[in-house]
Amino acid sequence: MAGDKVLTGSSSQNEIKLIEDGFFTVIAGPCAIESWEQLDSIACMVKDSGLTFLRGGAYKPRTSPYSFQGLEHKGLEYMYEVGKKYGLKTVTEVTDAETVEEVAKYVDVLQIGTRNMSNFALLKKVGKVAHEKNKKVILKRGWASTIKEWLLAVEYITSAGNTEVVLCERGIRTFETYTRFTLDLSAVLVIKKLSKIPIIVDPSHATGHSDMVIPMSRAALAVGADGLMVEVHNEPSRALCDGEQALDFRHLSEMLKQLNELAKVFGKKIR
Ligand code: PEP
Ligand code: MN
Repeated sequence: MAGDKVLTGSSSQNEIKLIEDGFFTVIAGPCAIESWEQLDSIACMVKDSGLTFLRGGAYKPRTSPYSFQGLEHKGLEYMYEVGKKYGLKTVTEVTDAETVEEVAKYVDVLQIGTRNMSNFALLKKVGKVAHEKNKKVILKRGWASTIKEWLLAVEYITSAGNTEVVLCERGIRTFETYTRFTLDLSAVLVIKKLSKIPIIVDPSHATGHSDMVIPMSRAALAVGADGLMVEVHNEPSRALCDGEQALDFRHLSEMLKQLNELAKVFGKKIR
């Protein structure tokens, strides 16, 4: 395991941008890293599907303090090892300013979750560490944040230096309760109009229902998003976190088959 070794994630040797012209980046993986076996099996599927980025939470910001909180440091070690084993770039969430430096030793991309979009101390710290260590950042939209507030949050990160920041629309709170949140796909259009910042869509947290993930993924590609973040599990019914919205391996293949077809219309390739 990683232990005290000097780690940098895998990006320093082989620089790959999260978002590139002509590509639609699909980031896939479990909500939470639960065990070595679970992460290994999901990573193997992600790699076999031709994808480049593996996601997985080690520190889980759960709404209830009684829910599974993640494997924490052990999860980071698994992510590092599995990323190396399959040659995948790794994405995990940072939940507080104190652990940013530690997390950055193990992964390529630092994710800031919806609950922390306005945690300015965290944003500044992530900006500093990402700049120093050449990490990329995904900034999810606060579920009650306007697009303007979201764009200003990006500036807290980039004020420390030039870092690749990608926005992630993951649904906002409305009066509707059938879906977990309301996926604001028009935000993609607004972001494209107001900025040059790439934007991906997370249909898993937005809908909360696995059967809605594929149609909303097609919609995200069609509206002009630069990529997706989706939750995938080897056994969704046994997931410790967000199983009801996770795609199983069969559904992941089906989603990628459909997206590959649709991407041709827009002259893009899925990766
Ligand atoms: C996640 O992606 O693991 C997550 C917790 O998402 P969000 O911050 O959008 O709820
Ligand atoms: Mn989740």
